Amino acid sequence: MMHPALDLVVAALEKIRETSEHAPRASRRALAQLQFIAPGKREMLASVRERVRGCTKCAHLARSRTQTVFGVGSPNAEIMFIGEAPGADEDKQGEPFVGRAGQLLTKILKAMGFAREDVYIANILKCRPDMPVGSFGNRAPTPAEMQTCRPYLVEQIDIIHPKVLVALGAVAVEGLLGTRGTMRELRGRWHSYNETPLMITYHPAYLLRNQAPSEKRKVWEDMLQVLERLGKPISEKQRSFFT
Ligand code: SF4
Repeated sequence: MMHPALDLVVAALEKIRETSEHAPRASRRALAQLQFIAPGKREMLASVRERVRGCTKCAHLARSRTQTVFGVGSPNAEIMFIGEAPGADEDKQGEPFVGRAGQLLTKILKAMGFAREDVYIANILKCRPDMPVGSFGNRAPTPAEMQTCRPYLVEQIDIIHPKVLVALGAVAVEGLLGTRGTMRELRGRWHSYNETPLMITYHPAYLLRNQAPSEKRKVWEDMLQVLERLGKPISEKQRSFFT
């Protein structure tokens, strides 16, 4: 959670910003002063990142991780994508969604008209779920691990305050909302997280396992809904992808 005093400052800033075009000069001066006093989103995120970097709340994960994987993208992003946990590639590079599934997410973003730097990408868990020595692949985070790490994600969402959240896969949904469900039930329609619209779609890793155009189309239709919600222009070519 943000410090209550910061909440007040940010609320005051927003109130003044809403009316600043027509506000008297004194109000605009107050806005400028508040902007000087209030730490920016970037600084607030950096402070959470520092706490995550030293976090040992899950002793087993703190021991096994190469590094924590906090999040990447614009602090002013309109869309925030949420996955479940770092895999081996992310643990090595310290950035979420950089492996094969991440590269597919980057392609999806490009098709939507965004670069990775335009959005914000984070996971429920900031440490890679540990694997038995000598074994390959990744495992899903446990509910207990997600519950322990979730407050950091909540802080990220509170600071970035995106217009739309996108949860990638059922595990991410469980971590965020505490709700278990199948993707068949969950995806393709709007949900809500603390009054922020939440779209649920398949994790890109699912699309790597299921290459059928029909599955790609489902994810794409979810992303079209996101673009519509944000009021972004959608070309005919974009509308017809994977049909
Ligand atoms: S998973 Fe999250 S809560 Fe657990 S040690 Fe890593 S940063 Fe801390």
